Amino acid sequence: SDAVLEIRGLNVDYGLGADAVHAVRDVNLTLHRGEVLGLAGESGSGKSTLAYGMTRLLPPPGVVASGEVLYHRDGGDPVDVLRMDHAQLRAFRWAETAIVFQGAMNSLNPVHRVSTQLTDVIKAHDPRSTTASRLARARELLALVGIAPDRLDSYPHQLSGGMRQRVMIGMALALEPRVVIMDEPTTALDVVVQRQILRQLVDLRERLGFSVVFITHDLSLLVEFSDRIAIMYGGRIVEEAAAADLYRDPLHPYSDGLLHSFPALRGPRRELTGIPGAPPDLRSMPSGCSFHPRCPRAMERCGVEVPVLGVPGDRRGSDRTVACWLHPVQDNRF
Ligand code: ATP
Ligand code: SF4
Ligand code: MG
Repeated sequence: SDAVLEIRGLNVDYGLGADAVHAVRDVNLTLHRGEVLGLAGESGSGKSTLAYGMTRLLPPPGVVASGEVLYHRDGGDPVDVLRMDHAQLRAFRWAETAIVFQGAMNSLNPVHRVSTQLTDVIKAHDPRSTTASRLARARELLALVGIAPDRLDSYPHQLSGGMRQRVMIGMALALEPRVVIMDEPTTALDVVVQRQILRQLVDLRERLGFSVVFITHDLSLLVEFSDRIAIMYGGRIVEEAAAADLYRDPLHPYSDGLLHSFPALRGPRRELTGIPGAPPDLRSMPSGCSFHPRCPRAMERCGVEVPVLGVPGDRRGSDRTVACWLHPVQDNRF
């Protein structure tokens, strides 16, 4: 297959036993070669927990309760990231998968020049490289993300937020990873800068051939820049579809709500409507479909039975999945 990462039955908790908060619930998700996969959902839906969990970077008290994350190497058997030893994990994290975290642009070290921070990353993974070669590589990486080489001598505070973000992307690309995970890299940036950075990432993806997992609550950016989109609610994926299909024809009322709580892609800025109500309390989830208390289309069974994520019967043969009683999963017994 052309899968790079295959997440299967992933459950992530914060804490143990009766006090555990189930922040990621039975997530199945595949990242394909060269694709941009967008992950959207309101604050607290579990997006970052999923990104940390699948890369084994969960801070305590986070624990992966179950599941597997199969990483498909070129010409090798897939390896389960969740069962890698420390040496394998170290190589995987930087050389195979690079992550730009939420708020990463503020995580540059304020007391070091950009050049030092870039060359340190290169040196950590290739201690035998020469100073000159590291500097040349740093210059190359900055050029890649559209920053002039004279910025190598700058300190982070001398750069705009957008430039700091680009430096972070350059660092993430230092070892030519096959997967780049970006967790809300753009929250603090204005819309024009966000769009430029994303456009650049997508161009780089095409040139360098990596895959991207892009996490944000700005669904309009995802619609514009990703190939596929997965929508999370209360720790679960409730819909997954090609970006164009999701935009044209969202099946889950929550996806529909998210799409309409953001301004239109083009044309005049509309008022943001938002989705009435609040995300569920993970400690006491509603019965049945966890979205039912907020759902404008809830039916009686919604409060009783949990809808299963799968290909809906009314979209038979498509490559999209949804967990909603309006579009029950196709019955394979026919
Ligand atoms: P945002 O858009 O705000 O970044 P998110 O979708 O990334 O949100 P997560 O940060 O993954 O959401 O959080 C998912 C859930 O896990 C939330 O309900 C949060 O309160 C809970 N959570 C996160 N970190 C911890 C922690 N250290 N201990 C307990 N619960 C946590
Ligand atoms: Fe709404 Fe019911 Fe679908 Fe849940 S299952 S999203 S409550 S219609
Ligand atoms: Mg987050």
